[in-house]
Amino acid sequence: MITLFNTLSGKKEEFKPLKKSEVTMYNCGPTVYNYAHIGNLRAYVFVDILRRTFEYNGYTVKQVMNLTDVGHLTGDSDDGDDKMVRALKREGKPFTLAAMREVADFYSEAFKKDLLALNCEMPHEMPRASDHIAEDIEIVEKLLEKGVAYPTSDGIYFDTSKFPAYGKLGNINLSGQLAGARVAVNSEKKNPADFTLWKKSANDIGWESPWGKGFPGWHIECSGMSRRYLGQPFDVHTGGIDHIPVHHNNEIAQSEAAYDVPLANYWLHNEHLIVASGKMAKSGDNFITLQTLTEKGIDPLAYRYFLLQTHYHSPLNFSWEALEAAQTAYRRLVAQFLKIKKEITSSKESESEAKPQIALLTKNLNNDLDTSSIIASIWSTFENTDFSSVAKIQIVKEIDQMLGLNIENQAKKLWQEIKNIPEEVKKIQSLRDEARTAKDWKKSDELRREIDALGFVVEDMETGSSIRPKM
Ligand code: AMP
Ligand code: ZN
Repeated sequence: MITLFNTLSGKKEEFKPLKKSEVTMYNCGPTVYNYAHIGNLRAYVFVDILRRTFEYNGYTVKQVMNLTDVGHLTGDSDDGDDKMVRALKREGKPFTLAAMREVADFYSEAFKKDLLALNCEMPHEMPRASDHIAEDIEIVEKLLEKGVAYPTSDGIYFDTSKFPAYGKLGNINLSGQLAGARVAVNSEKKNPADFTLWKKSANDIGWESPWGKGFPGWHIECSGMSRRYLGQPFDVHTGGIDHIPVHHNNEIAQSEAAYDVPLANYWLHNEHLIVASGKMAKSGDNFITLQTLTEKGIDPLAYRYFLLQTHYHSPLNFSWEALEAAQTAYRRLVAQFLKIKKEITSSKESESEAKPQIALLTKNLNNDLDTSSIIASIWSTFENTDFSSVAKIQIVKEIDQMLGLNIENQAKKLWQEIKNIPEEVKKIQSLRDEARTAKDWKKSDELRREIDALGFVVEDMETGSSIRPKM
């Protein structure tokens, strides 16, 4: 049984998909006007764990993650500049649909590379908003037909007073959203929370629609694309917690008002990555990308490890110190895996202890993705003297499937590097082994320092020493 915290009900619930063995999942994807920052990437590592959890439990998953390449305004409440237009200005490009596409192509590719570097499984579909304008228009027409939307001089708006359940996701208190509290006052809007479905173009650039040239609103795009690829309702919808009050409530309002069925049954939200100055945001100037981490010598997989040490539903403070510590731990883990693998003495070693331990770990994973306790258990598994080496390896391989830390492959890579250790280093290692046999600890320590200075780490095991490059 999988239990998940559903923002819609405000509690942990047993997960029951619409179809017996299939899960349909939509993830609000990035707005591709800039690189993703490492806070955004927390949202996607979280959905990757969610997908792996379903798959680990035997479900087939259909995962759709959109790429927003039009219509997302800098203010989430339909005010400010279009983020893509802002990117055109920043990059000195003309305001044309072709130039917008070029910018989006570039940052979409960069985003996909980030996902791969973090060992995320690629979504089955990554639709682009600009390729699905017809789907948006269809919903807006339906809403107009039903009298739930109305035209103004600058576009088409959703009438929130016609959807009594408006704000149900996360119990958003609308009384706090009086005119001006949420958006700049627009005298043509009937209610302060009403939002844009279609925005008329002020300069003849945009897509044709029954209401003249223009752009879809950001929220309608997710309704259009999720419906196109997954139907309505589908099982799981995700995003960061910042999406709850406006974006996701708006998606629900327009899709449910148009078709009179729920949009999605489970709504899951990840908490934010926090930097000293607050939530990391793309529109701010000093955000950190995965590239920045790599340039500072941090392996993306170590960042994944760092993220999974904390439950997705808790805020996570970023610091370089904590990240370095996570990297050290991750590397030790890979080295330990290799060391244990080499210690397997016979294929007849018992592996019976693995089963109950794996069952326990599965329970943790299925308990609303308790990744932090699984990470802690890797270490206790390695240290458990009741477990054979075979059992330990089997357990960690299973954890690799759950968490995607790629430990086994990294260990293989490490083994290749070890096989290429220079003769000079091997010679010092054997001198040090001799010194240890003779219990000459002073000399052994000196030789360890020499090995260290050459960029290698020596570790002592029952059967002798092992050496590996410092990572
Ligand atoms: P955006 O590209 O701004 O639409 O955001 C992409 C995803 O990242 C959304 O699901 C956001 O909710 C999420 N997000 C934005 N900032 C953070 C943050 N600091 N920590 C975690 N997730 C975030
Ligand atoms: Zn969305």
